[in-house]
Amino acid sequence: MLFEMLLQAVSDRSSGVLTVTCPNCEHKNEFPELLTVAIFVCTGCGEPIEVVEPRH
Ligand SMILES: [Zn+2]
Repeated sequence: MLFEMLLQAVSDRSSGVLTVTCPNCEHKNEFPELLTVAIFVCTGCGEPIEVVEPRH
């Protein structure tokens, strides 16, 4: 099954913890155990979010 309306968010490691701010509800989802996340379900709004790496 494809998520045709999948939201995308950019990962942020500036705080030392992998953090992704939900583009839908702006909830900060933190993943202290993980180095990378591809897709997760936002704990704020329950939407599936696709994570993209920041461009350098
Ligand atoms: Zn959300």
